[in-house]
This record gives sequence, structure tokens and C-alpha cells, in this order.
Amino acid sequence: MCNIILLGPPGAGKGTLAKQLIGEYNIPHISTGDMFREAIKDGTPLGRLAASYINEGHLVPDEVTIGLVRERLSQDDCANGYLLDGFPRTLPQAEALDTIGVDLNRPIEVVINITCNEEELVRRISGRRVCRKCGTPYHIETMKPKVEGVCDVCGGELFQRKDDTKESLLVRLGHYYNETKPLEMFYGSKGLLHEVDSTLGVEKTMKAAKAIIARVGK
Ligand SMILES: [Zn+2]
Repeated sequence: MCNIILLGPPGAGKGTLAKQLIGEYNIPHISTGDMFREAIKDGTPLGRLAASYINEGHLVPDEVTIGLVRERLSQDDCANGYLLDGFPRTLPQAEALDTIGVDLNRPIEVVINITCNEEELVRRISGRRVCRKCGTPYHIETMKPKVEGVCDVCGGELFQRKDDTKESLLVRLGHYYNETKPLEMFYGSKGLLHEVDSTLGVEKTMKAAKAIIARVGK
């Protein structure tokens, strides 16, 4: 199989594609965000260290995140491929990941960059509603609940998260593109970067991603 990085702006469908790919190829989904949340919840030494930064309002330093990734990628379940989501975010992280890949003989083989036009991202994000009680997501056009404003699952009230407005999305997109551009250059120059346009929907996105992996995977 294949060692994969997934990149994509908020609303591009990164979570959906990640879920499908790990199901299709039976590889672990490695999300540094999830790993930190879990470590903090379980109170592990790493979790306590991460929490000490987060509670002070700081970002977790690169060396902590990189250490976490190194440990995770060395585990047995990553021997036949893995999917990294949310890491690397910066050039120093990408360079550190290169070293880890060489050390463990598990280098990155493909970077899938999910693109989507801005109009569609705004439509997806600003139409999103979430159940206040159970967290089930809806969309006012494409994933309507049976009764407007009410959760199908638990009857809870649906609401729009503060981040899910057009204004907030445009700010987040600005940050995202600033952050990701250097990574695109880095992986592009290595010939590892592949773009998949998610504007056309979930099925076509998955098909395109599978075609890329079939070309470079083993
Ligand atoms: Zn609910």
C-alpha cells in the first residue's frame, strides 16, 4: 500500500475522504489533533505536556508534535501504509517528517491536495448545522433533517457554529492557504503532490484519489 498525506481547506471534504480511504485500504488514520485530544483525556505524560501549552494559550511546539508522529509511525500497524491528516502543517514539520520517513523506512509516497472553489466551500460551510445535543451534522440544502431545525437522531436543536459563517471561513481559508503554500512547493518539487478537485462531489473525489494511489502505490 501507500504512505499518504492529505491536505485540504476547511469544507473541502478532507474528513469524508480520509474515512473512505482508510476503509478502502485498511490503513491507520493518523490525526495529530485526535492523538493530542486522546493523550490529554488519558492524562499520559505527552498529554500533560501538550495540555500545559494549550492551557496557557500557546501552540504545542513542533518538537512535541514531531515526537508524537515519530512514535506513532514506528508502530506495527503503519508497516503497510498510513494516512496522515493535519500533519505536517509547516515546512519545518515536513522536513522533520522526511527524516522520520527515512529513519523508519516508511517515507511519504503520495500527497493528495484536495482543492475546491471558494464559492462551493462557502456554500458547504455556511449551510452547515449541527445538533446541539449529539453533534450530528446537517446541511440546509444537501443534508436536510426531516423537520427543519430538529435533529433526526435525538430531537435536539440544530444550530450554526460560530466558525461556520462566510466571514469566519474566509479568515480561516486565508490562514490555511498561507500555511499550505510552502508545503505544496516542498512536495511538488519532490514530485509527490497530486491535486483532486472535490467540487464535483464525494464520489468523484474518491475515484480520483484511488486512481492516484493505484498509480503510485504498491
Ligand atoms: Zn441530535
